[in-house]
Amino acid sequence: MNIGFIGLGNMGAPMAANLAKAGHTVIGFDTAGTKAEGVETASTAEATATEADVVITMLPNGAILRAVADQVIPAMKTGAVLLDCSTVDVNSARAVADQAEAAGLGALDAPVSGGIGGAQAGTLTFMVGGTDQAFATAQPLFEVMGQKAVHCGPSGNGQAAKICNNMILGATMIVTCEAFALADKLGLDRQKMFDVVSTSSGYSWSLNAYCPAPGIGPSSPADNDYKPGFASELMVKDLGLAIEAAKSADADTPIGQLALALYTKFVEEEDGRGRDFSAMLPRFERRGHR
Ligand code: NAD
Repeated sequence: MNIGFIGLGNMGAPMAANLAKAGHTVIGFDTAGTKAEGVETASTAEATATEADVVITMLPNGAILRAVADQVIPAMKTGAVLLDCSTVDVNSARAVADQAEAAGLGALDAPVSGGIGGAQAGTLTFMVGGTDQAFATAQPLFEVMGQKAVHCGPSGNGQAAKICNNMILGATMIVTCEAFALADKLGLDRQKMFDVVSTSSGYSWSLNAYCPAPGIGPSSPADNDYKPGFASELMVKDLGLAIEAAKSADADTPIGQLALALYTKFVEEEDGRGRDFSAMLPRFERRGHR
């Protein structure tokens, strides 16, 4: 396929390189001038789009996605697909899809989970919103860039799945860190706590697969001085999107709101910036009951 790829950052560059390695013709563009292996560089976003069967975007947020969509949609061939893999707000995803479909294009929102390691290894999971036809067009690309693509329904539903997942992730990580800090103060050995909870009803991905306590469970950022991994700033972004969506859908999300407040404070007022989101554990270790 001919692929345009816009946004060659930490995630986009390895994704684009994997598509080129698989034999697709990939033309990329990034305002920062970054490049990806095997990918021809274009001088504008539009130039990636004119010959493309699929234009992929991997951008920081919804406002930038909307601006890029304004540039590339008029340049795309009728029937081509605009595939956005960024994490953005549900409303921007739906607005861009409407704009693309009105111009005779297919559109998909397909945010990912798996992080930079998954982007490099081609093992991302895609959560996808859009039509069956557009999903079928993009399926071979999902197979190169990832190991699983779940079609979640119409446009916006991929973003909805992503923010619901990450709201659960943020909340379970916080409560897992609280529980370890409480266990310490009660004199309960961390390894014993892990042995019990990881096979009891308190288990979760945050505890079992990404344990915030160093030296316990499988290897995780806690074993690497809390270097990300998944940076706390990105958790603030995703929780912000979840709470914004909850407001616009009139959904009650008190724990999600509290998780957002705690991660925002961690990043803006404490030492969370640049640290993995599991570094909430040393934060709680230093604190008493209030
Ligand atoms: P990044 O900042 O490394 O990359 C974004 C790139 O977009 C940058 O290189 C930037 O120069 C480029 N860009 C900005 N405006 C542009 C424009 N108008 N035209 C062309 N390029 C432009 O970010 P990232 O870590 O690659 O994340 C990209 C997206 O993936 C985000 O939405 C993020 O939330 C999501 N995501 C990231 C991770 C992760 O672990 N990094 C995991 C899952 C999802």
